[in-house]
Amino acid sequence: MLTRRSGLRAAFGASLGAGLLARPGAGFAAAPQRGGQVAAWYRFRLGGFECTVVSDGAIALAPPHPTFGAGVATPEQVEQALRAAFLATDSLPVQLNCLVVNTGRALILLDAGVGPQPLFGPGTGRIAQALRAAGIEPAEIDLVAFTHAHPDHSWGIADAAGADIFPNARYAITARDFAAWTDEAMLAQPAPIRDFVAGTRALFLPRRERFTLMPPGAELVPGIRAVPTPGHTIGHASFLLEDGGRRLLVLGDVANHHVLALRRPDWPFAFDSDPALAAETRRRTLEMAARERLELLAYHFPWPGLGHVEAAGQGYAWTPSPWTWG
Ligand SMILES: [Zn+2]
Repeated sequence: MLTRRSGLRAAFGASLGAGLLARPGAGFAAAPQRGGQVAAWYRFRLGGFECTVVSDGAIALAPPHPTFGAGVATPEQVEQALRAAFLATDSLPVQLNCLVVNTGRALILLDAGVGPQPLFGPGTGRIAQALRAAGIEPAEIDLVAFTHAHPDHSWGIADAAGADIFPNARYAITARDFAAWTDEAMLAQPAPIRDFVAGTRALFLPRRERFTLMPPGAELVPGIRAVPTPGHTIGHASFLLEDGGRRLLVLGDVANHHVLALRRPDWPFAFDSDPALAAETRRRTLEMAARERLELLAYHFPWPGLGHVEAAGQGYAWTPSPWTWG
């Protein structure tokens, strides 16, 4: 029988596992395993804009089913889709890819991460460190614009004590999302919705005068426009960046996983406010991005979340953009 190990031996020879360095000398004394990671930032140009993706960390969605595919797919179908993509089947790590755009006139942050909130585990709250590593002081940010009011996109404006991380910034969000997620009546919803609303009210309402409420399709500044992509939340917006003949669509949560949401855009996502509208928006947006060969920044996709989609099977496939230097 060909076992995994005998298969490797057949491919690489009998020496596999013999342990060339099995007798450690002084140079092989046990070194401490350090853990941790770099503060993640990635810079690229879009026409005259200097863009920097900064990570607030990552959160884990578990279990994958029914987080994805509830009422439509079986747990086995979701597991099979993950296995086929070489991914773990018990939990989905999803990134928090925030984007800083320096237009030459303003420093704009698109989505702010979740911040140091225990709600999503210990892997978040890294945005200030990532910004500083990229040479950007949080106090320099002029405007923080949110795709929507969910905690993993908007709660990163405050530190653990509730103090401003971006003390000089104005905020922009669609009028519909601001109203929905600060609505006192929403506190009567079951968890986790009521917890999301309570936390968002605590952060947004004391800062109300710093908010600009966007109508659908609003232009933030020349070259950055909010595009209505409702469904995940009722006022959800994506951001279309255009400068010097180049374009980038900042998706937000139109698609939340680079395999499950693309391969099966029809599978509902547990945190979609209106699952049917979200699925329709997802398919329409991905179809447009594939047809127009539009580069995407996907908030929750593998770091740094830049890439393209193309039609594949019943949905789409993701091709990450190559890393560029300078
Ligand atoms: Zn999200």
